[in-house]
Amino acid sequence: MIVEGQWGFERAERVLILNAGGTIGMGPDPAGALAPIPAGDLIAHARPRDDAGFGVTFASFRRPLDSSRMRPDDWVTIADAIVALAPGHTGIVVLHGTDTLAFTASALSFMLAGVDRPIVITGAQRPISEFRSDAPQNLTTACMIASPRTHELPVLREVSVWFYDRLLRGNRTTKIDADSYTGFSSPNVPLLGHAGVTLKLDAPALLPAGTGGLRRISGVCSDVAAVKFHPALDAGQLDAILSRPGLRGCVIEAYGSGNGPNEPEFLDVLRRASEAGVVIVITTQCRAGTVRQGYYAAGAALFETGAISGEDLTFESAITKLMVLLDQFPAERVRELMVTPLAGELTRPD
Ligand code: ASP
Repeated sequence: MIVEGQWGFERAERVLILNAGGTIGMGPDPAGALAPIPAGDLIAHARPRDDAGFGVTFASFRRPLDSSRMRPDDWVTIADAIVALAPGHTGIVVLHGTDTLAFTASALSFMLAGVDRPIVITGAQRPISEFRSDAPQNLTTACMIASPRTHELPVLREVSVWFYDRLLRGNRTTKIDADSYTGFSSPNVPLLGHAGVTLKLDAPALLPAGTGGLRRISGVCSDVAAVKFHPALDAGQLDAILSRPGLRGCVIEAYGSGNGPNEPEFLDVLRRASEAGVVIVITTQCRAGTVRQGYYAAGAALFETGAISGEDLTFESAITKLMVLLDQFPAERVRELMVTPLAGELTRPD
């Protein structure tokens, strides 16, 4: 990340804006398709108005990315920039493409510890330079959440997503609409905040502050796979995925409350992979709700193979949590921690 501008540094609260890319900063390429362009218009909008009350540092990836091209290494770059540049700033706003924003938000929530100030990821469905863009509002409101005392807001101390009129827990977020300005939802938990004329955060819903100082505690293991159940999936296809040399983890998007085929050959493939040390996490392909181990006989058989329940994790959260844990721990410990809430990503039954 390169610092490209700094304004109002004498003000009590200063926001660090990190530009990773996305539509928010795009313009047409020679063929007329949207692509990242130099950050000129973004910088003009990032510069706070005199009455904004907070200062801004603007830093950017040397080459901002369409987020559909992002790789796990880019999460490490963003996490390291947050840790390195946070001192002197009351909060951090990450500008990001919407396509993989929920993956990055989830990954950051597991890679960072000691989160002691707002980290707000935002983007836009239309470039900031376009007429009727949603970008200016998204950027302005994210900056307000990142300078909470100036705006008399509760202090958020977690990785979150701001989009259109809503604040969401980062690792509960999923992109639900490629067109609507609302774009994102967190189907299994309430919003952390909402804005109309006034901006309100739900203070009791926020996570407690992290301790020990903001730091990155992990890298990312990319030796993972994902499978979505569908009626034509057979044991041979599943085996081709799960027996890949070097594979360490797999998220299976099962049906409904965690159900799937229970033919012996299918279950044997799952059992062999678990015994070989692959951590298999069963999630639901439903947008909302949770895996309920043992509720149906068809589902129960899956869990007798050594696979574990992803409960109400989103797909984005399940796969990034798996990647971050596999970077740090052996399979048995990863299986325990996958079902342990680490950053507000899981709802524990009462
Ligand atoms: N393809 C874009 C991206 O994810 C979409 C967006 O930002 O809305 O970078």
